[in-house]
Amino acid sequence: MTTYKNLIAGEWVESTSGETFANHNPANGELLGHFPSATTEDTQRAIDAAKEALSGWANTPPPARAAILDKASKIIDRRGDEFAKALTREEGKTFAEARGEVNRARDIFHYYAGEGWRVGGQTLPSNIPGELLYTRREPLGVVALVTPWNFPVAIPAWKMAPALIYGNTVVFKPASLSPHIGLLLVEALVEAGIPAGVLNFVTGSGRSVGNTLVSSADVDGVSFTGSYAVGMGIYEQAMKNLTRVQLEMGGKNPTVVLKDAEIAQAVALTVAGGFGVTGQACTATSRVIVEDSIADSFAAALTEAARNLRVGDGLESGVQMGPAVDRSQLETNLDYIGIAQKEGAKLLAGGSRVSDPSTGTGQHGGYFVQPTVFDGVDVSMRIAQEEVFGPVIGIIRARDFDDALEKANAIEFGLSATVVTNNLQQAFHFANRIDAGVVKINQSSSGLALQAPFGGFKHSSANTFKEQGPAAIEFYTRTKTVYVGHG
Ligand code: NAP
Ligand code: MG
Repeated sequence: MTTYKNLIAGEWVESTSGETFANHNPANGELLGHFPSATTEDTQRAIDAAKEALSGWANTPPPARAAILDKASKIIDRRGDEFAKALTREEGKTFAEARGEVNRARDIFHYYAGEGWRVGGQTLPSNIPGELLYTRREPLGVVALVTPWNFPVAIPAWKMAPALIYGNTVVFKPASLSPHIGLLLVEALVEAGIPAGVLNFVTGSGRSVGNTLVSSADVDGVSFTGSYAVGMGIYEQAMKNLTRVQLEMGGKNPTVVLKDAEIAQAVALTVAGGFGVTGQACTATSRVIVEDSIADSFAAALTEAARNLRVGDGLESGVQMGPAVDRSQLETNLDYIGIAQKEGAKLLAGGSRVSDPSTGTGQHGGYFVQPTVFDGVDVSMRIAQEEVFGPVIGIIRARDFDDALEKANAIEFGLSATVVTNNLQQAFHFANRIDAGVVKINQSSSGLALQAPFGGFKHSSANTFKEQGPAAIEFYTRTKTVYVGHG
């Protein structure tokens, strides 16, 4: 059994406490390895190392930084199957889903390597003769990346690649449920030649490692993706040092099905959005708002589709949906299913733990839950308001388009939203009036383009900086304005 290490100042090291935590496979309980429980001192050493390495990296020409990112992209490509298998084993999503995520990480490094050849400032017209007025993009400094388990390689990649290309040094803390794929990503950067101290990797609990990072006056930026509750706490800590913060948090994303929609297409998009990655996507569909006149046929077709999905170990071929990530998430899913029933929602499909394919008992090993559909959900119910983060979809019926839009917006979150319709006018009304940072028309609520800005509205985000694509430069750089009198 492997005991993995942390990367601090270019050295692979154990926790100074000698303590570790275990990493398990949610499909069968298999023990996968042990990771260091880093202490406050270990974390501080990683911050110090990043601080020490900052000026060297910031002064490395961006094309030279790009060469390292490009090489990392090629290493991720070469080790793609190995990375995807590790991801499935510790997080549970199917191998096909994991392979897609690893490819995404590869492409993100490729994309930001290209940025190394483009990053620049602005020259501005001057109102004084003999003056040159321009801006410089400088790295923000030491950045802490605190990431969730659900996209444990894509999310670190979409933070790490822009952080590095724009000249920042990094302390990366992965979620404790998915440290292995995070470590493999760091290995790719090390093999690609990232200098000592530029990228540090520290595993351990959010309360200890995470809190040390976000409350440190030596950290210039915190990029966090995770739950609303944890994000709020981070904001409070970081504010004390005026640390720049980016928070991307939960969602309760609607798929809105209008009366002209083709049922088969609406069901396929709902299944992809709601049951893809076991419903454990921040952009997952958890509410389907359907116009009354087609609601019965839609509900029947979705019920059938949910019952036909094959649930199991993501490494087995033919499996379409993996397990919940751990026991606690499984229990959360089952709790919410119970709450929805008590509130009066009507269970159409699923609702229970799936017998474990490996033991047949459902009592040991895998944390499998059935794809679950409720009908008769009212916007005031908890199942319609709170993020479950599992394969649980609630159907909310609407009188007409305006009612559907109002119900879609009757929520504190505003991450992603989609509408299924061929009515051009209503599609654009939806795009303009929905309160969400990502809007889809005739597409699944989940799934993003790496070259486009991403971020939520309302409680889904701190609404400070967008991530991804050309937007990432805003968070990871600071702008200096230079006035040159040369007349
Ligand atoms: P989480 O519990 O909030 O944890 C996220 C990260 O924060 C983990 O690395 C965690 O460490 C760390 N953390 C926990 N407590 C902390 C503290 N007091 N100080 C600093 N860091 C702390 O979220 P999760 O359960 O991993 O992920 C699921 C959530 O992420 C969902 O709400 C989902 O919607 C959201 N999400 C949002 C997006 C988006 O882009 N909007 C994308 C994906 C996921 P430990 O793992 O050690 O606890
Ligand atoms: Mg958590």
